Amino acid sequence: LHFFCKGLILAFFFYSGNEDFKPEMLKGKRVIVTGASTGIGEQMAYHLARMGSHILITARTEAKLQKVVAQCLELGAASASYINGSMEDMAFAQSVVKKAEELWGGLDMLILNHVSPAFLSYFNSDVAYMQKVLNINFLSYVTMTVASLPMLKNSGGSIVVVSSLAGKVAFPFTVYYSATKFALDGFFSSLRQEFAMKNTNVSITLCVLGLIDTETAMKAISGVVQISAAPKEECALEIIKGGALRQREIYYEYLSTRIPLLIRDWAPNLLDYIIQRNYNVEKLKD
Ligand code: NDP
Repeated sequence: LHFFCKGLILAFFFYSGNEDFKPEMLKGKRVIVTGASTGIGEQMAYHLARMGSHILITARTEAKLQKVVAQCLELGAASASYINGSMEDMAFAQSVVKKAEELWGGLDMLILNHVSPAFLSYFNSDVAYMQKVLNINFLSYVTMTVASLPMLKNSGGSIVVVSSLAGKVAFPFTVYYSATKFALDGFFSSLRQEFAMKNTNVSITLCVLGLIDTETAMKAISGVVQISAAPKEECALEIIKGGALRQREIYYEYLSTRIPLLIRDWAPNLLDYIIQRNYNVEKLKD
């Protein structure tokens, strides 16, 4: 029994990967960050800049992207560029990858982070809107992955997918958002299995985030839910670390994301009850 337990512990460390993160891991790496004009994406761009990466950022708002690029150059980025457009358009999603190829002739890390602005409300049966959100939050992730794969296979690179606890546990009033985040888990976790079976040396890191203090998130939940939010700067760093260490999933913050998942698997009705008690439904937008 003693040897069995020892073996189990060793296997745990082997499979969980206990390598330490070093900022130098990102030095000179060529990284795309989507949704980097604000929030967590913007903070990821700044971390990567301090680490000396080549950065290509994207979002819709050109003026904000210009400011982030200028700040990245000041912070020490090896290079920083942007391309603006909407991820509702798959041709635009492809053109971001094309721009990376033109700039660098290769790619080391693809960080998929952008998200259609979300708000809390009852599901209003709008199928056309569901389609739009699916395009932005899911299909553009697939499109960019497909377009990047030849370069990522060449470099033994990484795909980092920013998801949410709402992509593992069902919360009310986020039906559109949640559907797209669950879809990301299905697509990328299945793809990861195939990569392992085909010895494709491209890692996939799914990031399961709890509530983070970005302006958009704080505005969206204001008055409706009261839970504490974790800092976007630290969250951004944890995502980059997870990608650099080629972890399969990261959970941030750890306990506030892992505990609901444990309850989900063992007592789903209890979890539903706890979640439902947290909402002030009178304050919901129509
Ligand atoms: P923000 O709203 O701050 O940033 C979203 C980014 O996506 C912006 O750069 C925005 O720029 C861009 N974007 C929005 N719509 C489009 C579009 N149609 N085409 C291209 N880009 C677009 O979000 P957060 O930083 O809060 O979230 C970042 C990620 O973290 C998301 O994937 C989110 O789901 C996830 N997450 C966040 C949580 C939180 O509490 N903040 C919790 C769990 C997960 P622009 O408007 O200029 O296009």
